[in-house]
Amino acid sequence: MADCLICTNSIEPFHDFGRMPIANGFLRPEQVTDEFFFELKVGFCPSCKMVQLTELVDPDKLFHDDYAYFSSISTRMAEHFRQYAEWVREKYTAAADPLVIEVGSNDGIMLRNFSNAGVRHVGVEPSANVAQAAREQGINTLCEFFNEETARQICDEYGQADAVLGANVICHIPDLHSIFAGLDVLLKPTGVFVFEEPYLGDIVEKASYDQVYDEHFFYFSLHSVRSLARRHGMELIDVLPQSVHGGSMRYVIARQGSHRPTASVAEILNREIDNGLAHAATFVRLSERIDASRDALVGLLQELKGQGKRIAGYGATSKSTTVTNFCGIGPDLVEFISDTTPGKQGKLSPGVHIPVVPYSHFAESRPDVALLFAWNHASEILANETAFRAGGGQFVVYVPEVRILDDKTSYRHAG
Ligand SMILES: [Zn+2]
Repeated sequence: MADCLICTNSIEPFHDFGRMPIANGFLRPEQVTDEFFFELKVGFCPSCKMVQLTELVDPDKLFHDDYAYFSSISTRMAEHFRQYAEWVREKYTAAADPLVIEVGSNDGIMLRNFSNAGVRHVGVEPSANVAQAAREQGINTLCEFFNEETARQICDEYGQADAVLGANVICHIPDLHSIFAGLDVLLKPTGVFVFEEPYLGDIVEKASYDQVYDEHFFYFSLHSVRSLARRHGMELIDVLPQSVHGGSMRYVIARQGSHRPTASVAEILNREIDNGLAHAATFVRLSERIDASRDALVGLLQELKGQGKRIAGYGATSKSTTVTNFCGIGPDLVEFISDTTPGKQGKLSPGVHIPVVPYSHFAESRPDVALLFAWNHASEILANETAFRAGGGQFVVYVPEVRILDDKTSYRHAG
């Protein structure tokens, strides 16, 4: 049995997704013969409550230079980060000449809001071409991984920070103790660490198992984050649910005793107890629901195919790799996947090798059914696809349940 990455006790594996390729490993046809596979399994630590992958893939296999992810491509996310930055500025940067640090600052989508307001800031971004894109926009960026050493380097040059931020990056870091060692060096006595990640409560509620893939080592709850913070003399002082990424949580952590925790912390901790997020039995049931979801999705796609309908995938997301491989959905069921990312077009999807084509192909070839892999962007997509739906096109979704959306049904997943 594997050891917990946080507390080293034994974790209880609760779901095995089977043989899985790298989620973001879109490949050219000639690369198919040496594709890398591993066993994707997820487990729960009964001691510190952290849900996590039971085996980690060598990071060298995960990061591809051929197409880095640039956050600023999505206008919805840009607006989300503007609001996130504004919230941090109002609450935590009242001191004279404040300093804000971001771990995994990407192309500066968050920090540009601080830069524009004249707030001192340092982005820490290990991906060289992404860090360069941020610098070109005037965002002060250090091309490093964030750890104790990087924290000392920043502290020596700029002093201690009022706020250290993260967004969809902390769950990608296997050694979270190194992050907290860095925070201990870098945070002022009243400084805060604010981060947002997909929330375990949403994953359990919606059985959104496609959040599970190689780059997401951890699936956080208030229980697990509180336990982690306590190990480092810190505490959870505030939490705010967010609708992005299929349901996320914003956590605020500070040194023990430096801030009074808000009522939301106790409230959502209690809700987690009611929803069983601190109990192993919940995850055994989740595994059964994941199997049932797979059977329902494959059954529906086969039925539609049997009616002579052409099915296309919508959005070649990392999440879709878990769905297609776990369910065994290949080109026999899904003709192609359309995606707007140029670096993925002309390639094959990982593992099951469905061709990835430009969005224009979706519009021109008019499939009957679109399997919505990018369900977390459903509201934007459905608003853009009124013509497809008015012409009889149907969307199939699988979160929170497998169903067809015809032109009259709306879709809510964040409720
Ligand atoms: Zn643990």
